[in-house]
Parts: sequence; structure tokens; C-alpha cells
Amino acid sequence: MPVPFSGGCACGAVRYTCSEEPFVSYACHCTECQKRTGAAFGISIQVPAGGLAVDEGEPKVRRRVADSGNEIDVRFCGDCGTSVFAGGPARPHVRVVFVGTLDDPGWVPIQANIWTRSALPWVHLDPQVERFEMLPDFAKYFENR
Ligand SMILES: [Zn+2]
Ligand SMILES: [Zn+2]
Repeated sequence: MPVPFSGGCACGAVRYTCSEEPFVSYACHCTECQKRTGAAFGISIQVPAGGLAVDEGEPKVRRRVADSGNEIDVRFCGDCGTSVFAGGPARPHVRVVFVGTLDDPGWVPIQANIWTRSALPWVHLDPQVERFEMLPDFAKYFENR
């Protein structure tokens, strides 16, 4: 995966750069991602927290309790409402970047489908891609580094 890469919200007020390679990338079919995006699923990459820098703007924070029970702080643009990235006290070394906000999202592979128990019935899940009914244990992806 190419680094550094950059991205931002829809209106451009919030901009970020990531200087470290993602640990893992996946499509998330949880109900929160459906609400957050207004779409069928979210696409996320997990990156080292130290590798992600906000270059412009100051994202607002919404703390929520995930389907997993973990607290997650979703960072979003206060002007246009785009959710840009998230992180939480359960895994302080990780940030979850929402792939649709990348300047070039096309290179990001889907390594897993997660929370498939709430996937919309018409969504086609690639049988070659690992799938998890709920939240996987991401530890194995971190060990590969
Ligand atoms: Zn914005
Ligand atoms: Zn989700």
C-alpha cells in the first residue's frame, strides 16, 4: 500500500495525511456504519495512531458505544458532516480511517467483511474474502507487521 496518502472531508475543511501503512482494510456492515454513511456499509482501514496527522481543520468528536461494546470517538467535519476517522480508548494505538475520504480510495483492497450478520440482503459478499458475523479479533493483522 502506498504511503504517505492523504484525504479529507467532502467540503475540504478537514484534511489529513497518513504516513504509515495500514494494518488491515475491510468493509463493515454494522448498523452504525450504515447510519453513519447513509449507505449499505462502511469501508475502513486501521492505521497506527502515530502515523495519522490532521493537516487542516479541527474535526468534531462524537463518542458512541459500538455494537462490540467498545467506546469509539468518531471524528467528523463540523461544516459538512463527513465522518473522517475514529479511534477509542479500547485500542489507543489505532485509528480507523474511513476509506471514502481518501483522495484516492481505489487502491484499498477489501481483506475482510465484518459484522455480516447485519449486511443488507442484496449485498454480494465475495466468497474469496474472509468474513466475520461480528467483530473479528484484529490482533492477527497487527502481528503481521
Ligand atoms: Zn467538511
Ligand atoms: Zn461498522
